[in-house]
Amino acid sequence: MNIAKRPSPNFDERPAGVGPSVLVLHYTGMESTQEALQRLRDPASLVSAHYFVQEEGEVFQLVDEAMRAWHAGVSHWRGEHSINDISIGIELANPGHEFGYTSFSKPQMAALEELCMDIVRRHAIEPINVVGHSDVAPGRKQDPGELFDWQRLAQSGVGLWLGALHDLPGQGVETESAKTDWAALQSQMRALGYGLSISGQADRETRDALSAFQRHWRPQQVTGKADSHCLEVLGALLEAII
Ligand SMILES: [Zn+2]
Repeated sequence: MNIAKRPSPNFDERPAGVGPSVLVLHYTGMESTQEALQRLRDPASLVSAHYFVQEEGEVFQLVDEAMRAWHAGVSHWRGEHSINDISIGIELANPGHEFGYTSFSKPQMAALEELCMDIVRRHAIEPINVVGHSDVAPGRKQDPGELFDWQRLAQSGVGLWLGALHDLPGQGVETESAKTDWAALQSQMRALGYGLSISGQADRETRDALSAFQRHWRPQQVTGKADSHCLEVLGALLEAII
């Protein structure tokens, strides 16, 4: 595919002997695409990503994949901290929740799909390690958000998706039970990849992780509540990755 270079100075070395095993998707969350690209290349911003995909489907490379780009910040996934060390980051131009969140365009998704297929194949990135920024930093981040089409990527072998299971059940979603076993739920969320403590309480951290989980795997209804469908999807995903 045609990838133009737009180098960013915002990178450094990965730890010795470490290559990418995680793919993190973002939205820029800025009003203009030009502004977003400028910021990712501004030495004062201290942020970057490896790739930037515009609404019209144009793809830019900002940082070499061998280097560590600065996109994830304080983060956690599947027992690993400092996700920048072990990941490739892709920014999608989109105003985000703050400036008028909108669906990702067809040409943008087509370009992203081609780019991701290539990255996942070259680095043998596992489906469960294709994540959103919100998955690795719940509470702090919402991107790429509930309008992102994870199902489409998974149809091309990028990421984890279990078909119709992710659709809202026809009879609707049963609300959170007062008898929810929070410690069990927290340990399941941890087993999937989320960084949260097992407090046994429906605390803020757990609500944030549930919202992140829903944005990715049950995007029709993002509530932060442990409803029956959410628990069913979580259980099935865990079975799929064993
Ligand atoms: Zn992000």
